[in-house]
Amino acid sequence: MSNASLNANGKVPSTEGRDPAYFSYYAMLQHQQNMLQDTVRTSTYRSAILLNGPVCFHDKLVLDVGAGSGILSYFAVQAGARKVYAVEASNMAEKMKKIVDAANASGSEVLGKNAFLKDKIEVVQAKIEQQNLPIPQVDTIISEPIGVLLIHERMLESYLYARDHYLKPGGTLFPSTGSIFLAPFTDAGLWSETMGKARFWEQQSFYGVDLTAVYADAKDEMFGMPVVGGFDPRTLIAPANPGGYIVDFYTITLEELRDFTIPFIWQASYTGIIHGIAGWFDLQFSPPATIQNGNPITMTTNPTAERTHWQQVRFLLKEPLAVNAGQTIQGWMRCVVNEMRSYTIEAELLLNDGTSQLSDPLSSPSPILNLDYNRRRNKWRLHEQTYNYSYYPQSGNDSIFRPEYSCLYEPEQPLDVTVVVENNLLDDATNNGQFVL
Ligand code: SAH
Repeated sequence: MSNASLNANGKVPSTEGRDPAYFSYYAMLQHQQNMLQDTVRTSTYRSAILLNGPVCFHDKLVLDVGAGSGILSYFAVQAGARKVYAVEASNMAEKMKKIVDAANASGSEVLGKNAFLKDKIEVVQAKIEQQNLPIPQVDTIISEPIGVLLIHERMLESYLYARDHYLKPGGTLFPSTGSIFLAPFTDAGLWSETMGKARFWEQQSFYGVDLTAVYADAKDEMFGMPVVGGFDPRTLIAPANPGGYIVDFYTITLEELRDFTIPFIWQASYTGIIHGIAGWFDLQFSPPATIQNGNPITMTTNPTAERTHWQQVRFLLKEPLAVNAGQTIQGWMRCVVNEMRSYTIEAELLLNDGTSQLSDPLSSPSPILNLDYNRRRNKWRLHEQTYNYSYYPQSGNDSIFRPEYSCLYEPEQPLDVTVVVENNLLDDATNNGQFVL
């Protein structure tokens, strides 16, 4: 981990300070229900587990990390697991135990309904990181440790901890890979709304008080908040890089997960104003290469697909960037863990002019950069999310009057799709196999 990602005491930012709030959230049935009712999420997990039942679950020992209501454990038993260890830190473990105990109690009326669960599940109320848990080495680990943009909540770190302590060599991890996608978007309405909030602090006589001394701070704060919600996929000025940035749960180290940089290169599909970067992710469920006859399954949260509770996230730029159709924009997004169970994110965009160079993501921003006409840089705190639900796909034609639609058009000439990559950062990333163009 680089120095920049350590806190003032030279330590990895801890998640523990957030534990009471985090686990009391998940102790509530309504929040578990919200996830269960995400049918894309729940049915993809079910398909992944059942379709790989014969190779990864039948007669196997399984660990469910962060079992919540226990849904993934129940699927694992349906797929033939010999025993499932369901570890849940929050008091939701007690609720799960009620379902499991009812199934275990012979003669219970519930037994008829959940007979398949009898004596199959051990509920362990603990953090997975706790020492000396009564859990053996397992064949398969299942978990849903995913937050906004894949990484919010930092639960992936607990998932990797489970992998490193409880997975037999050659065992299966479900999910096995996450892919993060980034693309530039235009949305004059959203940008103006955000700027409008900051402009409150531009007043020189608010009840006789000049507020302008904090106007710059207000812009940093308002534009530093990621916007969670859906949007019209046509507002993406360029497609995301195919394949995305791959986070391989089988191989990634804790250190790599805590501080990583996503390189990107985009070619504008049409002329417009980039107001920021949109992000989403895919999840893959694939048994390791050594296991034959697996059925790889993918789930996507992209803006053209069915909505999930993760939705998409958008990172606004304080200053928009104008592009012409066909121009390339390159850049990077660096994600570094913070104490808020989340990430502090910084990104740079550079409109190619043949001479300028992207700056090093590990360097501090130089004030001079702000003067570049073709370069933008911004910082966001992934936990300070704000929501925007103004996009209603079914709302009919009235949506065409929104500002972001006025700049959507189909180019008359097909664009030359050849993109020349000259940047060292991208070459390095490509060589590492982390970036697929
Ligand atoms: N597996 C369930 C719940 C997913 S939400 C489902 O798919 O519906 C994630 C759950 O993991 C929450 O209930 C949370 O309390 C739990 N959790 C998060 N970090 C944990 C940790 N370090 N140890 C044990 N449980 C954890």
